[in-house]
Amino acid sequence: MIVYKFGGASVKNAAAFKNVLHILTLPSASEQVLVVVSAMGKTTNGLEKVFGLAYQGQEYAVALQETRHYHQEIVQELFQDAKHPVHAALQNQFTFLENTLETVQPHDFDRQYDQIISVGELLSSLILHHFLCSQGFQNQWIDCRDYLRTDDTWREGRLDWDWTERQIQQDLPAIVEKQPIITQGFIGRTAEGATTTLGREGSDFSAAIFAYCLQATSLTIWKDVPGLLNADPKLFRDTVRYEEIAYQEAIEMAYYGASVIHPKTVQPLAQRCIPLHVKSFLHPDAPGTVIWNCQHARIAPSFILKQNQCLLSFHTKDFGFISESHLSSIFQALSKHRLKINLMQNSAISFSTCVDADDARVEALKAELAQEFLIHYNQPLHLYTIKNYDQASLEKLTQGKEILLEQRSRLTFQFICRPTDNFPH
Ligand code: ASP
Ligand code: MG
Repeated sequence: MIVYKFGGASVKNAAAFKNVLHILTLPSASEQVLVVVSAMGKTTNGLEKVFGLAYQGQEYAVALQETRHYHQEIVQELFQDAKHPVHAALQNQFTFLENTLETVQPHDFDRQYDQIISVGELLSSLILHHFLCSQGFQNQWIDCRDYLRTDDTWREGRLDWDWTERQIQQDLPAIVEKQPIITQGFIGRTAEGATTTLGREGSDFSAAIFAYCLQATSLTIWKDVPGLLNADPKLFRDTVRYEEIAYQEAIEMAYYGASVIHPKTVQPLAQRCIPLHVKSFLHPDAPGTVIWNCQHARIAPSFILKQNQCLLSFHTKDFGFISESHLSSIFQALSKHRLKINLMQNSAISFSTCVDADDARVEALKAELAQEFLIHYNQPLHLYTIKNYDQASLEKLTQGKEILLEQRSRLTFQFICRPTDNFPH
């Protein structure tokens, strides 16, 4: 069996839903398929706005109506029959939304967020289920919360892998043998029965969870790009698509800030050697990219830019060497204020690190360490990474940039510079 994941862009309007049906009926698709779907288009952002207003005690009816209207229009285009059960299914979800919004309290933001934002995936999966059935493509809709158990880390639920795998294995193989399964990404449930979400963009991870637990032969993520590119085409010219790359390569790219697949998605697949295909839903027959157990001596350099960075350097006040105990207090403070080190460098009397320029966190860090160190900081800066660099790519990217710090290993070159905005490079 296989797992397919369709993101928000692949179900953003009626034509997109029809395209999903087209993809599911291609000869390359398997009859044994589990489909994970995200909320439609920008629905998650829309629901965040509605909830944000409700949380602040402000009027949210107009914003809610926008989300409702968006769904209704698509449903009207997809279903001619005004009495089709899809209408009642949507109505149920919106009634739940309205009732839940009325009970919103000005505390416990994250817990309440999950109860409301999760409705986006329920809506999209219900519409997809009914639409496919109406076109003669029989399928079984399941509520993924019956299968994905998390703890109560709201907005970033941590999966109970054992429970989840047991539950999935117990029920789903028998179902998927008979007909395709349609389910949601992004959401789960605690043992106590409260809905949780897995973090923004979490549907890829959900798809990987299902693929892992079902020991699927492959997972395909259908996107609006032709596959995995060596750079973001909005920022870089002449991008190339990788035909195949290794799991580790994909995980590292994500680590350096590539907006590819979240590392959480790749790890479970790597553990069970399940290939991950990234394909364009607009050109489903095109090859896309496969991330799997392959080996390449050398692949095309990939370019990653992290914007809005802050470079902090800590100097001892007495010109003394930076010791392990100094490093220890810097690391403790970074960890306490949840600042992730994007790059670091040590010298005799100073230690430098590059972090995301999150003002509140950086200020708190500086306040904490001001007694012990003389602190310099510089922002906003850009952090570039070239993975698998060669001399030509290095020269081309660094040319004309004012570099404040650089670092290279055998395969990776990174530098911090003042922002330039002559994109695409
Ligand atoms: N709908 C959720 C989001 O927009 C999850 C996802 O699309 O992966 O973040
Ligand atoms: Mg999305």
